[in-house]
Amino acid sequence: MHTDLVAALDIGGTKIAGALVDGHGRILLRAQRPTPAREDGETVMRAVEEVVAELTGSPLWGSASAVGIGSAGPVDASTGTVSPVNVPGWRDYPLVDRVRAATGGLPVELIGDGVAITAAEHWQGAARGHDNALCMVVSTGVGGGLVLNGRLHPGPTGNAGHIGHISVELDGEPCACGSRGCVERIASGPNIARRALANGWQPGPDGDTSAAAVAEAARAGDPVAVASFARAAQALAAGIAATATLVEIDVAVIGGGVGKAGDVLFTPLRAALKTYATLSFVQRLEIVPAQMGTDAGLVGAAAAALTRRVGDAAEAGV
Ligand SMILES: [Zn+2]
Repeated sequence: MHTDLVAALDIGGTKIAGALVDGHGRILLRAQRPTPAREDGETVMRAVEEVVAELTGSPLWGSASAVGIGSAGPVDASTGTVSPVNVPGWRDYPLVDRVRAATGGLPVELIGDGVAITAAEHWQGAARGHDNALCMVVSTGVGGGLVLNGRLHPGPTGNAGHIGHISVELDGEPCACGSRGCVERIASGPNIARRALANGWQPGPDGDTSAAAVAEAARAGDPVAVASFARAAQALAAGIAATATLVEIDVAVIGGGVGKAGDVLFTPLRAALKTYATLSFVQRLEIVPAQMGTDAGLVGAAAAALTRRVGDAAEAGV
């Protein structure tokens, strides 16, 4: 019997994934539905409940002791509600209460998706063994999370480490969040592609204008593509250096689709970091690629649920 089994939910704008995960981070059962992101809130919740029903219907379910949810944000762990930007039907939606009801009253731990990925990288990936780490996802958006003093630091509402919306260009372009010149506004995949196109980059015969296509062109030496990645790297470096200067991290882990660009991103990123991370205590900061794959959100949500259970046991004096 798995006495350390938890349920995990990874809720994003395109899919709702669920799993039963054991204490070693192994996924024993998985379920998935597309997110009906343009539908009303109850329709989205029904998709979550279908995923949960596949888990609760398993013979393994009897051993599950808690539920971890990593959700697209903003989330509010203090009220158990979520308001994902890309799921308009959910605004201050009481996700924790609804999932608790669907799982027969199990304790539910809610964190943002960036925090969940951080939990996964710290438990099993590139931040393993590091007591102070920043983990980032650079893809359609830029998300992140922090490990401080050896523990995940979700913050009071579950959003701490939201590095994508640190401003690194004071009079920069308006960002969807309401601020200006955010890291995400410069370094996300769509913004890398947008800048390359605006500066005269020509896509190949297949017409692919994704950041991955810009990365391919940069690898082939296209100077506009190279420059667009260099600008993104500069924004990321400034955000990472600011974070390191504030809270003393010793590693920054970069994942997500843009993170997969490899040297096209990491070479200018490491160079730009030298410009911004200047004080003695941040000069040893390393930047490394993420190691967790597409299951990072599920594994991280499970880690949060397992950690909470340990915390509850400690409080109860167990
Ligand atoms: Zn922003």
